[in-house]
Amino acid sequence: MRILVTGGAGFIGSALVRHLVQNPSAQKPQHEVCVLDKLTYSGSRENLAEIRSMTNHRFCQADICNRSEVTAIVDDFRPDAIMHLAAESHVDRSIDGPDAFIETNILGTYTLLEVARHYHERTPNFRFLHVSTDEVFGSLGKTDLFREDSPYQPNSPYSASKAASDHLVRAWGETYQLPVLITNCSNNYGPYQFPEKLIPLAILRACAGETVPVYGDGQQVRDWLYVEDHVDGLCAVLERGQIGRTYNIGGSNEMTNLAVVQTILEQLALARHEPANALLPLIEFVTDRPGHDRRYAIDAGRISRELNWQPKTAFAIGIRKTIDWYLANAEWCDTVSQVDTGARLGLAQNS
Ligand code: NAD
Repeated sequence: MRILVTGGAGFIGSALVRHLVQNPSAQKPQHEVCVLDKLTYSGSRENLAEIRSMTNHRFCQADICNRSEVTAIVDDFRPDAIMHLAAESHVDRSIDGPDAFIETNILGTYTLLEVARHYHERTPNFRFLHVSTDEVFGSLGKTDLFREDSPYQPNSPYSASKAASDHLVRAWGETYQLPVLITNCSNNYGPYQFPEKLIPLAILRACAGETVPVYGDGQQVRDWLYVEDHVDGLCAVLERGQIGRTYNIGGSNEMTNLAVVQTILEQLALARHEPANALLPLIEFVTDRPGHDRRYAIDAGRISRELNWQPKTAFAIGIRKTIDWYLANAEWCDTVSQVDTGARLGLAQNS
């Protein structure tokens, strides 16, 4: 397939692009991939360095809000599918500065849908996969699970902007018969995640001997999914998903934020041949994020039953691989961290 990946220089997008370009299945022909990315603070061409020598992909620096640029790229590349991951993705930043979230996540998705709609008129077998988050469903009680038909109740500017983009994608499918698919996924972790997010932040701060902030009481529950499992799920939906359908993707791996941080600190201590609890004093409880959702958890039954997808990576294995990757890639961390000031974000003090 010829696949255009928006946001392909970001964390999940680059894992997807590396997978599509390398295409590990020898039975299948190679994909041709076009990465469309604005290269904001969280995107980097370094995330695609592994596939630099491979000729079945190209890179276009562009903003999804710029309709003429996006049209030119689509007309030139002629994709069979667009996988749309470009977004502003950090909840804390959305609290301090929602503008970029409204622009990219809502107006950018709208712009892309319009380009795709006109392109589809000339390309009947085209499909549009929109990658979204479980945060659109809001916060759960102790036992419930998010299902595809759960009501939308976003609580942060980020999740509200993603919810809006989901609605636009659905509407373009219903109104204009654009062949759309939507995925809503839980928290991802793995290599190349920008170090403002909980897991890489905890690893890098602990390695530097700095305190590791835990918001509020740390009892917020998230479902964690290894990024390569997410990529497999996205490919399953693109290849075998039913047009117009939404699929939840989750890791069946609920943990409190505090337990995640404790696990990382214990693993790091053991890697240094220190007692498992040696780094736990680095934990610092800090003011909670306003509107912080208490619990997310996914019922991934639909994608499992209909598309035969399951997460393969247990958290204990995935976190080990992630820690090892960050320890082995100090240069990457230094490069991307230069754009991060390390200041506390998301207290709504700078908005
Ligand atoms: P990321 O911040 O690491 O990457 C986003 C990428 O989009 C970057 O490369 C950035 O340069 C690019 N981008 C931003 N604005 C753009 C614009 N206007 N035009 C073109 N490119 C632009 O984010 P991520 O964690 O890889 O998330 C990717 C997608 O997956 C997002 O849509 C996000 O909402 C969704 N998602 C993420 C998670 C998660 O845990 N990270 C979970 C569920 C869903």
